[in-house]
Amino acid sequence: MSKMPLLFIGHGSPMNAIEKNSFTNTWAEIAARIPRPEAIVCVSAHWTTDGSCVSDNEHPKTVHDIYGFPQALYEVKYDAPGAPEIAYMLRELAPNVRIDNSWGIDHGAWSVLRVMFPGADVPLIQISLNLKGDRRYHFELGQKLKALREKGVLILGSGNVVHNLGRINWDMSGGYAWAQEFDDYIRENVERREFQNVVDYGKAGKSAQEAFYTTEHFDPLLYVLGASDEKDSLTVFNNECVLGSLSMTCYLFEA
Ligand code: ZN
Repeated sequence: MSKMPLLFIGHGSPMNAIEKNSFTNTWAEIAARIPRPEAIVCVSAHWTTDGSCVSDNEHPKTVHDIYGFPQALYEVKYDAPGAPEIAYMLRELAPNVRIDNSWGIDHGAWSVLRVMFPGADVPLIQISLNLKGDRRYHFELGQKLKALREKGVLILGSGNVVHNLGRINWDMSGGYAWAQEFDDYIRENVERREFQNVVDYGKAGKSAQEAFYTTEHFDPLLYVLGASDEKDSLTVFNNECVLGSLSMTCYLFEA
């Protein structure tokens, strides 16, 4: 079995689940280019818990954790089967992760996966973001999950490197200077494999204070970096900021 790639997707608006645009077109192209996964472990910005959790539900439900969107989005169902055996494998690698079936598949996962794997036929679990974990915790948990790549598992981080909803400007197509500056800082350090500078993102200076007020959209990237190998090749795509304060930048690591 070939070693699976790693993906971080900047998911942006939940409307990407049902709209076609340059970002979602690239998501679909990437899905067609990588080996078909045996299962997917998704680290979504939208499942935060006290401690780290995974689900071993055989039929996880679609969670519509969205507010004020068109009805069509509430009708989206992503009925991928669960992957209990992957959840147990994950717990062997990271025994501090506990089983919790109170959540399901949230829009951080389904808005992206509906585009990438529209058949919803790849078994899927989510791992939650531990609100008590610092940046190093998330990076190190990603390192522990690395072995799943050998088992045909695609580790998918879904968030946004720059995500400041309070500063969204609906009339703006690109990003504010600080948004672009922070996105560039992260990209340059990922490209140089200077992951410590990503974990210590405050080194970016003032732009880091504006990029987000809470880290849940940033943290999924740290899992992907943790699970990467020095020998992996890196592709950066959808590398742009939108609406002033969101970045859509995505990272693909391939063995
Ligand atoms: Zn989000």
